[in-house]
Amino acid sequence: MIRHAHFQLTLRCNLRCPFCGQQRLPVPEAGPETWLRAAEQLPPGIKITLWGGEPLLYGKFVFLAERLSEMGFVLEIVTNGTLIGEENASVLREKFSAVYVSLDGGEKAHDAVRGQGMFSRTARGAASLAGHRGKLVFLTTLHAGLTAGDIGWLRELEALKPDAVTLQPLIGLTGQEIAEAEKLGITGLGRWERPDDPAARRALEETWARVSREKYDMPVVLVPHFPEGVCARPGSALHISPCGEACFCTDFTGYTVGNVFRDGVAAVVDSPAARRFRALFESGAVPLCRHCPWRSQPIETPDGRQAAT
Ligand code: SF4
Ligand code: SF4
Repeated sequence: MIRHAHFQLTLRCNLRCPFCGQQRLPVPEAGPETWLRAAEQLPPGIKITLWGGEPLLYGKFVFLAERLSEMGFVLEIVTNGTLIGEENASVLREKFSAVYVSLDGGEKAHDAVRGQGMFSRTARGAASLAGHRGKLVFLTTLHAGLTAGDIGWLRELEALKPDAVTLQPLIGLTGQEIAEAEKLGITGLGRWERPDDPAARRALEETWARVSREKYDMPVVLVPHFPEGVCARPGSALHISPCGEACFCTDFTGYTVGNVFRDGVAAVVDSPAARRFRALFESGAVPLCRHCPWRSQPIETPDGRQAAT
């Protein structure tokens, strides 16, 4: 049964991060009525995460979020935070159980990666959520040689008063892993290719150790480079692209199990492709899972308890 859906509203983004895993290709975007029809076919009260690209660029964002909330879904968003403002802050404050904001460290590192002035724009956006009903979580990607090593910048994030900070290394796949995945029918992985650098991995491990020894005003969660566990997502999570193509994984979307907008959720979840990919992921043969931060993430049940993975 599907317990978590990701609605990828758009691939457009106002930033140009060099490490971006989204393809940023112009693809047709569905209108809110199409997303609402898909939502009607999901189990009631499950978690829906809105993301992109940058989901706040989606033209009917507020309308869609309000309708999904009225339908009883638990809403989350992943955003770069630069477009949080008057138009959407109140819906984010009142209707979302979690707002995940990408922040790549303190001001110096964040601006080096995402562009001059972006840290203060994101910080302003986060501040405008003060009094929010849900959690404000910073998703921080550790970049070797930039944010890994000196962790003084975590105090800058502390000053922004998030409910938690999640640290995870930049995802990277070797050329060999990409070739293995392609043989299994998962494509479009070239943008994740990075050499395996043992020195960078050691630096990350040292960063983990230093962070674990410090005390912060907020919980700091570490997502390891090689997460453990059995991924709960095949069969339980559905990622839906702006044009309705669906798969189980959120970062590695280079395969489809069917088109939700055309065929409906039930047909897609039980399609031959869905069964094939579910079996493939469950067999442990897919190299992507070795590096995937979702592997160790629990899926919340509708009443907010954590389901085992
Ligand atoms: S903010 Fe996110 S979606 Fe936009 S370019 Fe950066 S990594 Fe990509
Ligand atoms: S761990 Fe594997 S099955 Fe799970 S989301 Fe990542 S790539 Fe997909």
